[in-house]
Amino acid sequence: MKISSMSKKLRKPAIVANWKMNKTISDALQFVDECRKMFKEISVDRVDVVLSPPYTAIKAVSDAIGNDNIAVAAQNLYWEEKGAFTGEVSASMLADSGCKFVIIGHSERRHQFGETDEGINKKIRSAIHGNLSPIFCVGETLQQREHDETFKVIRDQVEKGLDGLSEEAVSTLLIAYEPVWAIGTGKNATPEQAEEVHGFIRSILRETYGRSVSETVRILYGGSVTPENVSNLIKEHNIDGALVGGASLKADSFVKIVAGTFDILK
Ligand code: PEP
Repeated sequence: MKISSMSKKLRKPAIVANWKMNKTISDALQFVDECRKMFKEISVDRVDVVLSPPYTAIKAVSDAIGNDNIAVAAQNLYWEEKGAFTGEVSASMLADSGCKFVIIGHSERRHQFGETDEGINKKIRSAIHGNLSPIFCVGETLQQREHDETFKVIRDQVEKGLDGLSEEAVSTLLIAYEPVWAIGTGKNATPEQAEEVHGFIRSILRETYGRSVSETVRILYGGSVTPENVSNLIKEHNIDGALVGGASLKADSFVKIVAGTFDILK
């Protein structure tokens, strides 16, 4: 399948695989190999494809993809450049291993590892300083949604996470809206629910950084994305791609998700 016609999307879609704490080096290389074969059949140059292996497999994956149209992201970083921070990894170390992107503020990090908006802000700054594009995650819990707090929570996370950043810095990042109740649960937000929050995030960016920045930043949806539901989500005007957990672990379903974005590129 080749894409020949012009994209209806203003922004290039991005599909990001988040492998979390899964895959040894050899598992990861096998995935890249399988993906590569399938990507030969389809033209992926109209979509940014990003793989986020665990730290241990970053270098191997980035060497294996070579000049292919695939980029590598880390799942986290620490904001200091170097020093006595046992167990931590800095932006420059990630860039040195081949990363172009880094996921920051994933809800598993916020909820299981106590990450705060302030720490996330420092991580975003250090990523940009180290020439990595942050994939900055925000999202409400089920309880917050049920208490009608979604917009307040999202505004708080966005404003605190981006506090003090310049327009230029903000234009380098991607934001992932990941409702916590949809992550790994099989219950994805409907396209309408997701679009409502994506549009809201873009309006916050417009208020603070102006129209041009707000129209540049890609806002991805994450939460139980599958080959079956991806096209309907990505059809929405403000949904510019997906951050995919469970369904990114098998090359076959991940490639189908990438191919699912083609529907909206026709
Ligand atoms: C994620 O962890 O970022 C995620 C969206 O997971 P899943 O696709 O499994 O819901």
